Amino acid sequence: MTEPAVSADGGAPGGKANSAPLLGRAAEPTLFELSHPGRRAWSFRTSGIPEVPIDQLVPEGHRREEPVPLAEVSERDLVAHFTRLSHRQFSVDLGAYPLGSCTMKYNPKVCDTVAGLPGLAGVHPGAPASLTQGWLALLVELEETLCEITGMAAATLQPAAGAAGELTGLLLMRAWHEARGSVRHKVIIPDSAHGTNPASVTLGGYEVITVPSDDRGCVDMEALATVLDEDVAGIMLTNPNTLGLFEEDIAAIATAVHEVGGLLYYDGANLNAILGVVRPGDMGFDIVHMNLHKTFATPHGGGGPGAGPVAVSERLVPFLPGPRAVRVESADQSPVYEWMTPPQSIGRMHTWHGNALVLARALAYIVANGGDGLRQIAETAVLNANWIRQRLTGTYDVPFDRPCMHEVVLSVRTIKQAHGVRALDVAKRLLEEGFHAPTVYFPLIVDEALMIEPTETESPQTLEALAQSLERIAHEANSHEEGWMAEFPHETPVRRVDEARAARTLVPTFDARG
Ligand SMILES: *Cc1c(COP(=O)(O)O)cnc(C)c1O
Repeated sequence: MTEPAVSADGGAPGGKANSAPLLGRAAEPTLFELSHPGRRAWSFRTSGIPEVPIDQLVPEGHRREEPVPLAEVSERDLVAHFTRLSHRQFSVDLGAYPLGSCTMKYNPKVCDTVAGLPGLAGVHPGAPASLTQGWLALLVELEETLCEITGMAAATLQPAAGAAGELTGLLLMRAWHEARGSVRHKVIIPDSAHGTNPASVTLGGYEVITVPSDDRGCVDMEALATVLDEDVAGIMLTNPNTLGLFEEDIAAIATAVHEVGGLLYYDGANLNAILGVVRPGDMGFDIVHMNLHKTFATPHGGGGPGAGPVAVSERLVPFLPGPRAVRVESADQSPVYEWMTPPQSIGRMHTWHGNALVLARALAYIVANGGDGLRQIAETAVLNANWIRQRLTGTYDVPFDRPCMHEVVLSVRTIKQAHGVRALDVAKRLLEEGFHAPTVYFPLIVDEALMIEPTETESPQTLEALAQSLERIAHEANSHEEGWMAEFPHETPVRRVDEARAARTLVPTFDARG
């Protein structure tokens, strides 16, 4: 027996008159406007367990007097509603998403299939190690693989995102210095750094010391020398940096920082350029965080779960968060897995074992690609970014005229000076060409920046279409009256938002179509 689910008209038997709007293409009702008393999108199988009256379960003072005001909709209307909403959205599954720094690349569906396996998805995180050997083996294999990719000794898989990894890394830095009886107050970051870096340094209890970039777009070595002293706990770097350029002096930077007793932190949010080519550990880094949700196949951008594992060199292993899955030898030499908390652990950075299914996805991605495949990802990502750079040189300004890595920073400065068109206008206009906008106004040190990361997943035809769109937009900017471009986009579900008002009045308002 089941509860009556839906009758032919989508309403449960006995439902009241329909006050919900009729649905045509022009209608964009909310779920509550679709609500119709008695409609349901679920049906429960009767369990055979006798029902317990509510007054025996919940004392009177704790019972609500009115039912929860939920929308009452049929499955059919519910599916239509969310499908309509999903069509108003742009996603990596729909088209190119060249958002620099944050790597929005296509995520192969096989990774979702793996993460959805009942033996992985259905396990309670509190189940003892003796019952979850497969899960622990997976975590150990992922940790070892990430260490091989980065050239480090061991890793924690707990942090939930890049910023959480950064904080973990800074707490590890602090724990290491304190264990040696050294009290230090400063962490150096370059002026091209991602915004989370200074935030994490402050949260980690350190003072931010900024070093400028030189005209190559790299750390200014002379400026670095003037800020290095025994009060420096370490330096945080991204290499390639957020200008998409490789820090050529990395070996000299590592030597100089280590000489004053500091540590090197690698912001590896985006490993797309270096996979299988170079390793942060070989460059001299002591701590590396990775964003599995950027490089290793977890969709992100909608605020869903991520993972920011932190890998460290040998001397920092005793301080890692715990518990960590480890392999031990049993009497008959077959591998057995256990949870272990390192002796001087900084403690937990996440409940249970982190966002475990994101970790499963990452291992699936790595295994599916293999070592050669990972290297090919990096080579293609770098090739694609350089193709875009070469193609658009002359159409837009290219602030640093040297080969880039996985992303390229262009500037709209000349066009703005001549025609008043800004990077924001170009980005908004591009939406109407069927592409997501690139990152704009970052890095902060480039005027009117457009930061494009085409990624390895787009075909030459898609790159050609993207380049043509950006060329067309530059042409329009140069041939229309000032202000013309500021009207775009015209055809997206949400047009220009009033950003000042959005920041000051935290109530969603938008200019809906039609
Ligand atoms: C995305 C990113 C981060 C932050 O990662 P979250 O997962 O968003 O916290 C840090 N550094 C760089 C270079 C990034 O691109």
